[in-house]
Order: sequence, then C-alpha cells, then structure tokens
Amino acid sequence: MILLNPGPVNVSDRVRQALQRPDICHRESECAELIHGIRQKLLKAFVPGGESEYTAVLLTGSGTAAVEAAMLSSLPAGKRLLVINNGVYGERLSAMAGPQRLGIPDLKFDWQGRPDPEKLRLALRQHPEALAVALVHHETTTGLNNPVKELAEVIDSQNRTSLVDSVSGLAGEPLDIAGSKLYLVVGTAGKCIQGFPGASFVIIRKGFLDRLKSYPKRTIYLHLPHYYEEQERGSIPFTPAVQLYYAFDEALNELLEEGVANRIQRYKQAAALIRKRMTALGVKALLPPELQSNTITAYHLPTGLSYPVLHDRLKERGYVIYAGQGPLAEKIFRIANMGALTLKDFEGFLAAFQEVLESSAVRA
Ligand SMILES: *Cc1c(COP(=O)(O)O)cnc(C)c1O
Repeated sequence: MILLNPGPVNVSDRVRQALQRPDICHRESECAELIHGIRQKLLKAFVPGGESEYTAVLLTGSGTAAVEAAMLSSLPAGKRLLVINNGVYGERLSAMAGPQRLGIPDLKFDWQGRPDPEKLRLALRQHPEALAVALVHHETTTGLNNPVKELAEVIDSQNRTSLVDSVSGLAGEPLDIAGSKLYLVVGTAGKCIQGFPGASFVIIRKGFLDRLKSYPKRTIYLHLPHYYEEQERGSIPFTPAVQLYYAFDEALNELLEEGVANRIQRYKQAAALIRKRMTALGVKALLPPELQSNTITAYHLPTGLSYPVLHDRLKERGYVIYAGQGPLAEKIFRIANMGALTLKDFEGFLAAFQEVLESSAVRA
C-alpha cells in the first residue's frame, strides 16, 4: 500500500530490516550507544554547525508525547504559555496547556493564512505573564508553513522562549534552529525522517536546559530534564521501544546519506508533480501556491465526489489518501508526499486518481 497520509509513512527495506537486530536490554551499554548515536545524528541533521549549542532528548511515544513533554517541562511556576493557533495542531497545543491551566487565550489566525508576527508582538506586550510561545512549524491541517523565523524574531526580541512543533516539518521543510535561536523543537521518527511511528524527540537549546531543571515537575513520564540527565549518563528513565530505535537510527543514517537539503528537494519535486497534474485535472487546491508546503497539498473535494467514495476507490487501487480535519473534514482531502517513495509511485497514484475521477464523473 502506498501511504499518502502525513505519517506513518512508507519506509525503506533497509529501515524495516533494522527492526530485526538482536534483542538487547535497555540497561546495557549497547542501548546506551544506540541512544547516544541517535541523539548525535539528530543534531548533525537538524542543527548543523550548532551542535555544541543544542542537545537532543529521545522519547518513546508518538509526536504528541514529545510535544507534551516539551510543553509541561518548559514553564517556571506562575508563568504562562501563549499558543499561536491556525489549525488542528495549534488547537492541540492549546488543549495540552488546558488541564494544568498553563495557557492564556490563544492567538488565533485564519487557517488559510500565515500568522502575523506584529500581532504576536502586541499580544506579548499585553501579556507579561506569557513567558513561552508555542507554535506549529508546518500546519499539517492545511499543508501550510508558518513563518517560524519571523515569529521567532519577535519571541526573542520580547525575551520569551519558543516551543516549536515541527513534527511534520523536520526533514521536509527547512528550519534554521540555531539561527532563529529556537529553544525547544519537537520532531518524530515517523514522518519526513522516514522511520516508524513511536519514537520522538525534542531538540533543546543547552542554556535553556539549565533553566528547565529548576522548573516545576508537572509530569512523571514526560519530564524532559529527567530524560536529559539519564541520557547524558548513558541511561534512560523508562523502558524505551528499543526495536523502533534501531529503525530510527537507520532512518537517520539514510537521511544523513541523502542529505537533509536533498530530502527536502525530493519532496518538493514530488509535490510539484502532484500539483501540476491536479491542476490539469481541474482539482482545486485549498491554499495559494506561495503558502503550500513541500509535503502536503489540501484539495477541495471535486463536486459530487464525497471523501469516503474517493478514499475507498483509491484504496482499492493501492493508495491511501487523507481526510480533512475539523471544519474542513467535509470539504477537503489531503495528499501527503512524505516517505520512501519514488516519482514512479506518484505517477502511479496520479493515474489511479485520474481513473477514479473520470469513472466517478461517468457514474454521477
Ligand atoms: C503528526 C503531527 C503531530 C503528532 O501526531 P502523533 O500522531 O502524536 O505522531 C503533532 N504535530 C503535527 C504538526 C503533526 O503533523
């Protein structure tokens, strides 16, 4: 099955075979070396040149676990968090802040536009209690890249800290972590890194890590300084998904061999191919081209074709597409182009799509 959903993605045979490596105990040196290697490779891939200023912490759990770990670990007592919200994942950030009342009202923006950095500046001036700003890099809801660099400039100029959910961004969209002085950046193995779901990580600015250690411990399982201290000692607080880490390590080897910039370029080419053909077929994109990311395109459902019908007919032909979420659920469908796929795979999908579209028009 070809997966055109934004994670889990199709992985290479090489990554899948890594699952077969020997059983090991997570308290032994083999596991410590594996984890150390993954952390180093994450910095090499995503903070090239700035490896000494950042560290990476590895977690077991899907992307959301690492986002929640970053959020719950990054606020001093009595301080609050402001969420920039222009999609489902912005909403999720906001929902995460809810149970422990860490948030102030979200800074909401239209789902089909970019957040305005000047509005952020104003909000931060009005809310001195908001010490941290949480934002999504690539809003998977619509396939829109938020202007992280511009927003980070405002965050930095207002002496606040940043938490960036780049779960669907890293290895798919450029992100200058060190140049934008980002504090916490969250990612997952199971999207553009082309590993399996279930392993995730937080890249943390080192100076900030010292501050985190003095912040309240709001969670037992997801307290980042705990993971950091243990991983620095070659240990780990809880039983990790060892086999997934093997595959994650191999996916990072592949990524470093391909090069992050080349990976991004490959995705961009796949997206361009999809967009060109969809335009030719008269299928309308939700966002204007200048807002579209490299890895997801959201389309209006063709008139008379419901999502379940479109989905099922494509699945019969071997392709899984993705529904819209929230208020867009009935209106759009999404095509992701992440994963170990070739242009030939996308050609195959586009031929199947055309067939479904034409046969549905006849039936309609
Ligand atoms: C996929 C995704 C997540 C995390 O989802 P999980 O299902 O927990 O892996 C978080 N944020 C964004 C922007 C995502 O695309």
